[in-house]
Amino acid sequence: MTRINGYLGRRHLLKLAGIGGVSLAVTATTGVLWGAQQAVRPQLAAADQPSENPNPVRPDDALKKLLDGNKRFVEAKRNFPDQSTSRLHQTAADQHPFATLLGCADSRVPGEIVFDQGLGDLFVVRVAGNVVNSEIMGSLEYSTLILGTQLILVMGHERCGAVTAAVKDELLPGRIGSFVEDIKPAVERVRNKPGDLIDNAVTANVQLQVEILQENSVVLAKMIKEDKLKIMGARYDLDTGIVSMVT
Ligand SMILES: [Zn+2]
Repeated sequence: MTRINGYLGRRHLLKLAGIGGVSLAVTATTGVLWGAQQAVRPQLAAADQPSENPNPVRPDDALKKLLDGNKRFVEAKRNFPDQSTSRLHQTAADQHPFATLLGCADSRVPGEIVFDQGLGDLFVVRVAGNVVNSEIMGSLEYSTLILGTQLILVMGHERCGAVTAAVKDELLPGRIGSFVEDIKPAVERVRNKPGDLIDNAVTANVQLQVEILQENSVVLAKMIKEDKLKIMGARYDLDTGIVSMVT
């Protein structure tokens, strides 16, 4: 098991949870892991209500707002909403974003620009390869349970360097390989499918990360069950700027 400065890789979390084709018997290590989760549960219970949002946006409406904004972006008809000084002051003390985005850190895919949104509109988590690990999961639980967004959109993109690295499977320096490892199960899912492997893996990776979010968070699962959350997947076309749904 890899444990660097207390970090436990998501790959191992999945293994411990019996996901990804690897099912492990309960060990002393899993006991420590899940014991730690139990320890924070009483605090979670106290905060187990979404914060008061004066204008909660339902998942389908949030998706429509995003896709409408992307259409404006693609058609070069951006409104640049919520970017005024008054919006700055309005959001200074509090935030009620209408959607949460998990996207790649790639410099060409900034959420607020490609969806034509502004200050306080989106809770954006970006990491190379748009992968889910425990820190990412925690951020997404915060944006939904505490801030009250009802949509998490996981968005990959064309020609993603992280996905390409996972396909090439080369030795990488430092910790670059950490997120690449998280993408490899998605590559395996499409390895023998027709078409371009990297492009197929971009879509498969979005689907994989959506599944991980849906299946590995008690907090998110509860919100989904209560019809307070949808988790969906999309991909971004670098050539056209168009966002397409994949789940
Ligand atoms: Zn990328």
